[in-house]
Amino acid sequence: MSSQTVERLNEELSGKSPDVILRRAVEFFGAASTAFASSFGAEDQVITDILHKEKLGVSVFTLDTGRLPQETYDVLDATRKHYGIQVEVLFPESSAVAAMQTLHGPNLFYESVEYRRECCRIRKVMPLRNKLSTLKAWICGLRREQSVTRTAVTPIEWDTAFGLYKINPLAEATEEWVWEYIRTHKVPFNALHEQGYPSIGCAPCTRAVKPGEDIRAGRWWWEMAEHRECGLHRGEKQ
Ligand code: SF4
Repeated sequence: MSSQTVERLNEELSGKSPDVILRRAVEFFGAASTAFASSFGAEDQVITDILHKEKLGVSVFTLDTGRLPQETYDVLDATRKHYGIQVEVLFPESSAVAAMQTLHGPNLFYESVEYRRECCRIRKVMPLRNKLSTLKAWICGLRREQSVTRTAVTPIEWDTAFGLYKINPLAEATEEWVWEYIRTHKVPFNALHEQGYPSIGCAPCTRAVKPGEDIRAGRWWWEMAEHRECGLHRGEKQ
């Protein structure tokens, strides 16, 4: 697909609702070649609900880093039961995790950006790369207003880091819209969202944010804002 085709698709989808974006993107890339990566945050739960309602036949997978909060496992389980779906769970290579922790200890991420990225690379990026190598496109819950690293998100984009297309049905959605959708459609959500966690990742790398703080301020809070991506959405080679 050429960059002009992506531009045309983005023009066509600009200002459209997430369900329209998802239908068009899945029709374009094919359900069998597309999958949804869910971490069970609020945005991802909205996408799961739309995929289910629209019966788009797209499979759902998640990355279990081994360091997730219990609340995330709880909402994963609630989602499986609520929608009657299977969620494929991807784990990191156990020998790589063992070697990393033997060398640097279990809390290496607090020591430097380099160690933190190495942990994310082993626990998230490697299993994700293996999965994405089987697909033409993946669906994500990114929104433009989430952080300084996401202001250029478009509904369809070429993912240079992983070599496939990325579908962002919520690119233009606001936080208010997401929560209105969750309330209206009674979508299950992670209990941590009600305890001051707008964005939820691994337990040791996520904290609640204070009123008025950036919504991703609780992710890797000890680092500068421009470093706060895990390699899944940084748009660079790993
Ligand atoms: S978020 Fe933290 S614990 Fe999770 S993979 Fe990244 S550095 Fe490791």
